[in-house]
Amino acid sequence: MTFEHVGKVYADGTRAVEDLNLGVDDGEFVVLVGPSGCGKTTALRMVAGLEEISEGSIRIGDTVVNKLPPPKRDIAMVFQNYALYPQMTVYDNIAFGLKMRKISKAEIRPRVEGIARVLGLEELLKRKPGVLSGGQRQRVAMGRAIVRDPQAFLMDEPLSNLDAKLRVQMRSEIARIQRELGATTIYVTHDQVEAMTMGDRVAVMRRGVLQQVEDPQTIYERPANLFVASFIGSPSMNIVEARLEREDRGLVCRVGDRVVAIPSEVAARRPGLEAYVDRTVGLGIRPESLAEAAGAAGDTDRRRLAGRVVATELLGSERLAYVEIAAVPVVTEEVLEVAGDVDSTVLESLKSEAKEHRAGLIARLDADSRVQADETVELALDTRKLHFFDLETETAIPVDVPAAAPAGA
Ligand code: ATP
Repeated sequence: MTFEHVGKVYADGTRAVEDLNLGVDDGEFVVLVGPSGCGKTTALRMVAGLEEISEGSIRIGDTVVNKLPPPKRDIAMVFQNYALYPQMTVYDNIAFGLKMRKISKAEIRPRVEGIARVLGLEELLKRKPGVLSGGQRQRVAMGRAIVRDPQAFLMDEPLSNLDAKLRVQMRSEIARIQRELGATTIYVTHDQVEAMTMGDRVAVMRRGVLQQVEDPQTIYERPANLFVASFIGSPSMNIVEARLEREDRGLVCRVGDRVVAIPSEVAARRPGLEAYVDRTVGLGIRPESLAEAAGAAGDTDRRRLAGRVVATELLGSERLAYVEIAAVPVVTEEVLEVAGDVDSTVLESLKSEAKEHRAGLIARLDADSRVQADETVELALDTRKLHFFDLETETAIPVDVPAAAPAGA
């Protein structure tokens, strides 16, 4: 399935999708993720034929589907609100679409039973939806959609009505079922954890524009810009201003009153960094790249930040520490959008923090850490995991990926 320069402008002039280019391979599971209103549902509905395509074209298989009515597109869709027929058994619910297509009973039975096996519904075929759990109903809805063996499978937040525990369970269930069936799938969610755990590739959207499409690990390790960096990962990446400087032994960055040495291999993989010497960059630090350092900082220890603990939160296996350091936080619309309400009071308070050179960092510490609010803490930085951003373009300073070693090497 491919999107070629696809755009959508609604009748009232709202632009929902802009120049979307995306190819989904046969059998691939791609997750479209982004904050509310970013255009992901619109993109999906254009594939399904529920929304007219204003610009560009969408291909399913070899066919441009722009002008095809929904039933001719050979796709199946599962929504957040799935309606099962309450008076019909699970079997009949799944078989319904096939019956409507006048497929013979002899052919329907093995197909329904096959799907029920994959979905783990074999024991429930004779029951009615009313006695099923939320997760079971969701699987019946999926069964009904996939039994037709469509060319592509579209899902829009299918798990959002389930409780947290069931959601986690269904996440892996859906991923397993998709792999087993090898069904080409586009899955829409605003939940980045869902995106990262389920997708072969994750496509991050913001305000109608595709930001990055990569496998989950690449998205996490090499986010393309400030928005993706802040959006993917929970808690979010910490991003502060840092001044890049050259020292005899290599590059360092100045964060508030601390100097952090950039390991030579980190600099070597980012040849573009050279151009930022004596300039301010955005320094990205994932919460897990911060640990509690033992003892006071020595002169030679240039992998540390220090600050005042504002609060801590024990999460069982780890302790989150909110630490205020003397540095300028990077406050962009992107970062704020991820922070939640882009409400003016939040914006003002963040801007005043920025003016006062106070940046709030989140550190993921060991659960047995004893740090407490109002204490000063020394944080050791995993400097191999730093991220660097151009503050004007808000894009990442690119990382050179070494070419894959030749086979057998
Ligand atoms: P959510 O997760 O909240 O559903 P989304 O990322 O799926 O968000 P869309 O539903 O695709 O976003 O909406 C994209 C933009 O288009 C939003 O600004 C929305 O308000 C707007 N929009 C959606 N449907 C219409 C419509 N029928 N007419 C006008 N604007 C619309």
